Amino acid sequence: QRLFLPSDLPFFKRQHKNVLALSGRIDPESVDDYLAAGGYLAVVQALTEMRPSDVIRRVQESGLRGRGGAGYPTGLKWATVAKATGEKKYLICNADEGDPGAFMDRSILESTPHAVLEGMIIAAYAVGATSGYIYVRAEYPLAVKRLKLAIREAERLNFLGHAVCGSSLDLDIQLRLGAGAFVCGEETALIQSVEGKRGIPRPRPPYPAEQGLWGRPTLINNVETYANVPPIIAHGPEKLAALGTEQSKGTKVFALTGKIRNSGLIEVPMGMSLREIVFDIGGGIPGGHALKAVQTGGPSGGCIPAEHLDTPVSFESLRALGSIMGSGGMIVIDETTNMVDIVKYFMEFSMDESCGQCTPCRVGTAQIHHLLTLFQQSRATLLDLAKLEALCDLVKNTSLCGLGQSAPNPVLSTLRYFRQEYLDRIVAHPPIQEEEQ
Ligand code: SF4
Repeated sequence: QRLFLPSDLPFFKRQHKNVLALSGRIDPESVDDYLAAGGYLAVVQALTEMRPSDVIRRVQESGLRGRGGAGYPTGLKWATVAKATGEKKYLICNADEGDPGAFMDRSILESTPHAVLEGMIIAAYAVGATSGYIYVRAEYPLAVKRLKLAIREAERLNFLGHAVCGSSLDLDIQLRLGAGAFVCGEETALIQSVEGKRGIPRPRPPYPAEQGLWGRPTLINNVETYANVPPIIAHGPEKLAALGTEQSKGTKVFALTGKIRNSGLIEVPMGMSLREIVFDIGGGIPGGHALKAVQTGGPSGGCIPAEHLDTPVSFESLRALGSIMGSGGMIVIDETTNMVDIVKYFMEFSMDESCGQCTPCRVGTAQIHHLLTLFQQSRATLLDLAKLEALCDLVKNTSLCGLGQSAPNPVLSTLRYFRQEYLDRIVAHPPIQEEEQ
């Protein structure tokens, strides 16, 4: 009798589990389970058989790019921190996941907290850091509980602490709880918050790699990036480099949500098309409706229309279409949804989450939101359309940090692909009274 395995289901068949390989297969609260599955072997290997420069070279050869959104080459960032001089260096794990509809980091932390710690230990050895922080949202209590337990267990087994595994590495890792401000996912704001100050971004340079936490060289990577590291050390960089596209290697975890039959967390090789993700893995659109767009990158990303469904998912291809990979939010939109409504929702989010420090973002997002309200209520004019486009350009080009710079992306992408939906809501003859107000 053939056993029915979940991997037989269409939802699982096309996925490629790397970061999520142990999710749901081991007890997240048992370090023994993790060890039995080969956990922490990569730490032992790196610390006893490799020099820090060998570790960095291996990460560079894998082609791993940061999974937090920007896609910066991980090995290059590590090399910069390793080169920086200073008596003390820090490393940070950015677990301040805040995009609406995104739960990738949360799931990784809840299911394999030791994998994230293992990646951080290897990174600390490579760059010469001796203290680490995991900045995690307080709204993720299960992740917090499991991380605390994982840190205690790692200390007990000497994967953390003095002379880790008998090597020259001393490393302590602590948790810092974020209070839910979206802007604290921005690295300079996050650093301020860890230091106990109000979490607001500062201009860069200097970059955290040179002057980060308490002015010291600091490595910041996100949860999924660290979780990618142990397999690179344990199995060699070729395995990750063999997956994906020319410039985007490995796999990516996405939170597949919206108007889709099979919603949930998926991990796919980079380069898989949106069509395969939506129809083969996601099972298509419920209710017999047609697909209209796929929104990637949350409030910082854009809406990719159905005609671009064969686009391979990669950092470069999504950017070319006016969106971004972001941290992995992927919202499927069907023909019944009006794009102005969805864009207004994202703009409201950015407006609420703006730290208010710089005028283009603080005032601009509110003004864009006001104009979108006019469109939503079919009270907009052609002049409002021109104002909307000009404001989006201004906010994008003059805001201080990524939140403001990317907030107009949902509007700009829908103006590019769904312009008619804006035009349909323009009144031919606006009431004179309203124009005078
Ligand atoms: Fe704050 Fe927005 Fe300026 Fe970023 S762009 S610093 S979030 S006001």
